Amino acid sequence: MTDRLYYHDSFLYDFDAEVHEVLETPRPALLLDRTAFYPTSGGQVFDTGWIVAAENPANPGAKLRVTEVADAEDGKVVHYLEAPPRDFKPGTRIHGQIDSTRRRDHMQQHSGQHVLSAAFVRLFNMPTVSFHMADDYCSIDLDTPNLPKDQIESAERLANEIILENRPVDVRYVTRDEAGKLGLRKLPPAERDELRLIDIRDFDLTACGGTHVRQTGQIASILLRKTERVRQGWRVEFVAGQRAVATARRDFATLTETAALFSAHIYDVPQQAQKSLDEIRSLRKQREQAQEELAAAHAATLLAETPESNGRKLIVRVFADRDLNFIKLLAQKLTHQSSQAGSGSAVALLATTSPQPSLIFARSPTLLHDMGALMKETMAKLGGRGGGSKEMAQGGVPKSDGIAEALTEVAAKLV
Ligand SMILES: [Zn+2]
Repeated sequence: MTDRLYYHDSFLYDFDAEVHEVLETPRPALLLDRTAFYPTSGGQVFDTGWIVAAENPANPGAKLRVTEVADAEDGKVVHYLEAPPRDFKPGTRIHGQIDSTRRRDHMQQHSGQHVLSAAFVRLFNMPTVSFHMADDYCSIDLDTPNLPKDQIESAERLANEIILENRPVDVRYVTRDEAGKLGLRKLPPAERDELRLIDIRDFDLTACGGTHVRQTGQIASILLRKTERVRQGWRVEFVAGQRAVATARRDFATLTETAALFSAHIYDVPQQAQKSLDEIRSLRKQREQAQEELAAAHAATLLAETPESNGRKLIVRVFADRDLNFIKLLAQKLTHQSSQAGSGSAVALLATTSPQPSLIFARSPTLLHDMGALMKETMAKLGGRGGGSKEMAQGGVPKSDGIAEALTEVAAKLV
């Protein structure tokens, strides 16, 4: 078993040890007799850092980056390295260096989680069922059917008060029997007899193997963010310490950028955004109405200038500057207006070449041609996809080449 130095001192960033084992597959790794590197467990993620050969610290080849640290099944800690440890063999004396910025961040998040979980228990009797630490935020899952906004804010306030009071965070070891009488917030599964307790003075007592701050003031602050319903209850995302400041900084930058788009103060962004959305909605409505009117007028002109032949009017047109919605609308107007006016019936073979080359075939209900079948044939020729009913069909093609010729061919079939 590797002697875990972080159990006794979370602020130990430098240590000396001896290589026990050198692994080359599946990834290069070292096993040491003792380590201050924390392996991923209990929701807290691993440390990174460096391992240097103690005999020859000047040799840069003997300094290796530790990229991941994991627990092995037999109680050993595996230090995965970025490159094969050529200068290391069993018995080599090494010096380990923990990336202290990363460790301090983890201690702030993890200790912050203890305070926050205890706050939810104290205030609302909501136990934490799981903890997750990601690269830029953390989350706890609370066992509760609902979590209103005022409860979130109360828990955040209490957690920050406990931080402000700078309460001592002590580590002590007790037997499982003793622990049973202490009323722990969370008792781990019965694996070992001795339990490591994290005691936030007069606020929280729980069993944990992670790294923690010495006083709650070192957590600095806790900011609660997104909450969402999950299978087990409610997930609460939070950030502590420097992460809280970095997150608030990013939020402010985002909000400032958005406010600049509206030439507004950041606190007026929601109203400004609402106003813009209302305007967009109203303009969209106006545009639809205008399109409708334009299509109707266009259809009337086309029908007026097209002579009737075989008891119906055949309108064939390729547009370069109308979208699919417009030609669809136009096809509807052509086949609808012609029958409504009692002036017979019509067939419309329309296409647009941009923005997306598309075709619409439509006919008045009184006619018998199968537009869907004609569209399928045309698509097979042009390499596109489409279909529809006997009265109306649409298709899309990858490029506009050959569209006009295809329409002429279909028109010839209708004569
Ligand atoms: Zn912990």
